[in-house]
Amino acid sequence: MSEPQRCPDCGSADVVEDAHYAQNQLVCSDCGCILTEGLLTHTLTEEGFLQEVRFTDSTGLNESLSKRKLYGLKRVRDLCKVLRLPSTFEDTAVSYYERVFDHPSYHYVNIQKKEILIGGCVYVTCRQHNWPLTIGTICSLIYADQAKFASIYLHMLQTLKLDVPALSLKDLVTAHCKNFRVFQQSSSIPAHFVEGMERVVERTLQIVELASETWLVTGRHPIPIITAAAYLAWQSLCPSKRLSCTLHHFCKLANMDIPPPTRQRLKEIHAVLLKMASQLSWLSVLGISKKTVVQHVGEILQHRTFLLNKSLQDCAEVSQDKSHDLEAEDPGNLAVAVVVETSEAVRQGDLCKKQKAAVKRSFLPPCLTDLKRMRTTASAVERVFTGEEDISDSEIEQYLRTPREMEEFQQAHPWD
Ligand SMILES: [Zn+2]
Repeated sequence: MSEPQRCPDCGSADVVEDAHYAQNQLVCSDCGCILTEGLLTHTLTEEGFLQEVRFTDSTGLNESLSKRKLYGLKRVRDLCKVLRLPSTFEDTAVSYYERVFDHPSYHYVNIQKKEILIGGCVYVTCRQHNWPLTIGTICSLIYADQAKFASIYLHMLQTLKLDVPALSLKDLVTAHCKNFRVFQQSSSIPAHFVEGMERVVERTLQIVELASETWLVTGRHPIPIITAAAYLAWQSLCPSKRLSCTLHHFCKLANMDIPPPTRQRLKEIHAVLLKMASQLSWLSVLGISKKTVVQHVGEILQHRTFLLNKSLQDCAEVSQDKSHDLEAEDPGNLAVAVVVETSEAVRQGDLCKKQKAAVKRSFLPPCLTDLKRMRTTASAVERVFTGEEDISDSEIEQYLRTPREMEEFQQAHPWD
């Protein structure tokens, strides 16, 4: 000990080393105070200053870890803090990072990939807790390309054998709507454009659910759909003053980007709303257009279940409405209707699923109604080859250069 020790209790300088089991302890010989008990000190200087050192800060923990791993752990914790995640997430993300770091398949990846793995650990934690974090957000934080992130992330899920639930639309809608600035009073936004958050979130969610029931969500990026739905919801909550405001203008006011497919999604949602409006008798007489349908979004959403069921009738599928109709039209079908109703009582859940499936069939995904695409898939039918067919000389010769072609090639590439 270079520095003279003093007892913190009585101030006596008579401090002696006392061997207690295998550990040497500093003890005051005047009052018996143990100076070093409960301290996890790892260096002589620390003991000299009598500072308490937490285990995570001690050299004991850090010496066993590589610099790279320490850096990674810190990055994971920092990312969690920047994203303001609950503190329990941090520990989960850290434990995933430790597993990733120790896994042999990631020992020799470059720094850029290691950074993506750090982001991946945070992202997977959020997904497992249904925290609405998008790949876009995490990629912008770690300066990574989204395609590259996706491939490494999927690889990581496989190696660590992690299970990830699908993104909850509800949470995503709420989180995304919070980013729109139109929901707070501000000098740059006209008063009649300001709208309450809760109302917009509620209606946006209903529109997104409708879009999901009519096949507009499956296989698509959710953000453009939510953006389009939020715009529609906002317009429909006060149509007289907001109908003239375009999507572009709305997003500019709200200080939001417009992802490119948003306009397409908006068109598709418009089309679904129009289709449903045509089934409401009091709306069908009005001659509703794409523009005016927005005024009736509230009504359409209110009768959503009824309208979806009605389009189900067109599909000639089993539904309660239909069984009632049959009853009225043709007494011969009464037996069928009764059977349907009793079976429904028994297997309500099953029928509900059937109904939903039938609704999805009556509204086809846009990729199935797009005739151009249909044709390309139809032409992709291939002949089956066994590998035993004869190969004619003329077939091979078409891959060889003629003397004239060789001459021309040499003229074009004099240095080759
Ligand atoms: Zn003492």
